Amino acid sequence: MYWEKDIETIDRRKLEELQLSRLKDTLAHAQRSYYYGKIFQEKGINADSIRSLSDVQKIPFTTKDDLRENWPYGFIAVSKDELVRMHSSSGTTGRATVIFHTANDVAVWTNLLARCMFMAGMRKSDVFQNMMTYGLFTGGLGFHYGAEKIGALVIPAGAGNSKRQIQLMRDFATTAVHVIPSYALHLSTVFEELKLDPRKDTSVKIAFLGAEPHTEKMRRKIEEIYGYKAFNSYGLSEMNGPGVAFECPYQDGMHIWEDSFLVEIVDPKTLQPVADGEEGELVMTSLQKKGMPLIRYRTKDLTRIIPGTCACGRTHRRLERFKGRTDDMLILKGVNIFPMQIEKKLMDIEGVGTNFLIILNREGYNDNMTVKVEVSRDYFSGDIKQLEKLRKKIVEELKGELLITPKIELVESDSIPKGDGKAVRVIDNRKD
Ligand code: AMP
Ligand code: ZN
Repeated sequence: MYWEKDIETIDRRKLEELQLSRLKDTLAHAQRSYYYGKIFQEKGINADSIRSLSDVQKIPFTTKDDLRENWPYGFIAVSKDELVRMHSSSGTTGRATVIFHTANDVAVWTNLLARCMFMAGMRKSDVFQNMMTYGLFTGGLGFHYGAEKIGALVIPAGAGNSKRQIQLMRDFATTAVHVIPSYALHLSTVFEELKLDPRKDTSVKIAFLGAEPHTEKMRRKIEEIYGYKAFNSYGLSEMNGPGVAFECPYQDGMHIWEDSFLVEIVDPKTLQPVADGEEGELVMTSLQKKGMPLIRYRTKDLTRIIPGTCACGRTHRRLERFKGRTDDMLILKGVNIFPMQIEKKLMDIEGVGTNFLIILNREGYNDNMTVKVEVSRDYFSGDIKQLEKLRKKIVEELKGELLITPKIELVESDSIPKGDGKAVRVIDNRKD
């Protein structure tokens, strides 16, 4: 059993009391970090500034830029020898934002994931194949620990290597998987190639889909192809990783674990709270993290709180499937990409002109990225060999930075339309 009934069905009033006391503790503790110590002093804030949950609004937001500017240890609130684990956001090989955990942070995170998986129906008797990248990315180890806590047999398959994934699934009668939705679709084409039908030739009953936005239609398509139930899983490295919000068997929004996270939904322009049930940017305060507590962290993810209670009996509120982001971050195959990363790399390469355009496509079930890059006028001599060398160099540089391999198309200087105003950097043609 991994059903924490008392806390999952806690009375709202009691939940809010618990949040208030944990919020005060978090503030008192966060003060020890370089960053919050400075901010609190400047603003005259301490744990006593908080009398009610809405008093959290007295504290400034924390952003990804703050994390970057105080890299690497500016946010840790314990001595370094208390830390046992580091993770980072997916994507760049450059200075990704890093997150640190104490042993207790890992235990709390593990617990939240066990709660999520149990809620979706996973049990001790299940064979769980984790098809996520292990390593700095949180999706691998996070789920791994949670599944072991439930007592399931864990196959730490890691990402990629589709034929082996299928082989493992069949040889060990996998019953539950964790997979990026775009990869689930891609994998179905490999089943086809092998003349196998996942509905008949595997025993998978449950899938956890996470790490990237996907529509309800895409979820239903995946469920249809595989004949399993797929549950939406949301998280971000700054708040541990997966295990922040997760669907229950009713599949109608994701319960966000409010004993661990204080939720605000704000208008991304005015940064003021929106009315109940309205869409806005999700802002979260960690209520249990000790290694690196974060207060009013702007996720840049757009969602809303679904009004009303859930038929499953859990009292933690539900977030609607995510609509997109307020910044220009793209997610391709679960990897976060900022157009600025591409721009920075391109501008360092001799021969590259002034403009570029990122095009995201879905071919069959494969998502890919093409970058059209203008070649500078003086470099454009028409020498095919020279251009091919440039193209290869760009592929290598971007691959090193983004961890995925883009297709590069070289185009003439000034041939990408500029538009009037902000340059259009991205065209996303991915449809369901
Ligand atoms: P990372 O910090 O690398 O774990 O990336 C976290 C980001 O991935 C989030 O802020 C979201 O933008 C995105 N993400 C993760 N899970 C989901 C999901 N289930 N639906 C939509 N977006 C998601
Ligand atoms: Zn529910």
